[in-house]
Amino acid sequence: MPRDYYEVLGVDKDASDEDLKKAYRRMAREHHPDANPDDPEAESKFKELGEAYAVLSDANRRSNYDRFGHSGPSMGGAAGFDPFDIFASFFGGDPFGFGRRGGPQRGRDLAIAVEISLTDVLNGVEKSFPVRSLRKCQTCDGSGAEPGTEVTTCLRCAGAGQVQVVQRSFFGNVMTASVCPDCRGYGDKITSPCSKCRGEGRLEREEEVTVEVPAGVEEGMQLKVEGQGEAAPRGGSPGDLYVQLRVKPMRGVERQGPDVMVVAEVPVSQAILGSTLKVDSFDGAAEVELQPGTQPGEVIKIKGAGLAKLGRPGRGDLLVKVDVKIPTGLSQEEDEVMRQFASLRGEDVAEYQGFMGKIRSAFKG
Ligand SMILES: [Zn+2]
Ligand SMILES: [Zn+2]
Repeated sequence: MPRDYYEVLGVDKDASDEDLKKAYRRMAREHHPDANPDDPEAESKFKELGEAYAVLSDANRRSNYDRFGHSGPSMGGAAGFDPFDIFASFFGGDPFGFGRRGGPQRGRDLAIAVEISLTDVLNGVEKSFPVRSLRKCQTCDGSGAEPGTEVTTCLRCAGAGQVQVVQRSFFGNVMTASVCPDCRGYGDKITSPCSKCRGEGRLEREEEVTVEVPAGVEEGMQLKVEGQGEAAPRGGSPGDLYVQLRVKPMRGVERQGPDVMVVAEVPVSQAILGSTLKVDSFDGAAEVELQPGTQPGEVIKIKGAGLAKLGRPGRGDLLVKVDVKIPTGLSQEEDEVMRQFASLRGEDVAEYQGFMGKIRSAFKG
């Protein structure tokens, strides 16, 4: 004789829909077979709960049940409902939060930004920096078991971390692999958890990470450091660390891949007559020939004095862009020489204003 449905759910005869839902939610979770692997009755209790809920949550079936009890019309026992489907409609597919299907879990990947200089881009660099993250517990070596205590193979899954379960569906029974509810997929059982990490096998700790930055890298590039991400709980493989490179800009230096451009201010006389220019380069002071008649904006190339090429031999070029400075505030003598120069070239220029003339035009301007 089946138990009274109200009694199964532990609610009164006048329970509202909300009361039924609450009661089912609480009890189904408690009696789910996956949560009670050692209770052989769990499955039938769970089924009974589902049946009680299925009937009482349906107004027609509930009023039939109230009048006729289990012998009423169209009760039909468990027909027309699936206790696991009802459960899934409340909790979804992963009610106990295992979130995975067997085997040890992998640690999460981490990302960190690291700043390097242009000199580092030229030469390549070994960078060390602290990373705070979940790391393997050194006390238990990541096993999660207190040192010297026993770790036994899980009997239910024989260490596989997975069990075959029969899933009921509208299409019949389907065999699927599921996380072993006894060991939660680890395949073993810890008798006394590590006191340091409380059985997790990992702890938050700061560790120095070293990464080899190759020459020629670009802003925003990522380097993957394998195994330096978060440690997995209880001995799974760790995640990876992604190092995002930030190249610190250098004042007055513009980078175009392996080439770099600098601007050199040149007095007008040097641009006209030519000269030897001194420029700062990665290799110290360098000299470039300024040809007579160099135009503003002209670029002089120093081959091979740029940055390294990523993954290739050789270096880019150093490009020196000429910025011709026009002198202001000429002395009377300089003014005279320039006028002479203009007249030789037949170029019309504004008349000499003298000192007071300059003042007046400044106020007008
Ligand atoms: Zn530990
Ligand atoms: Zn197991």
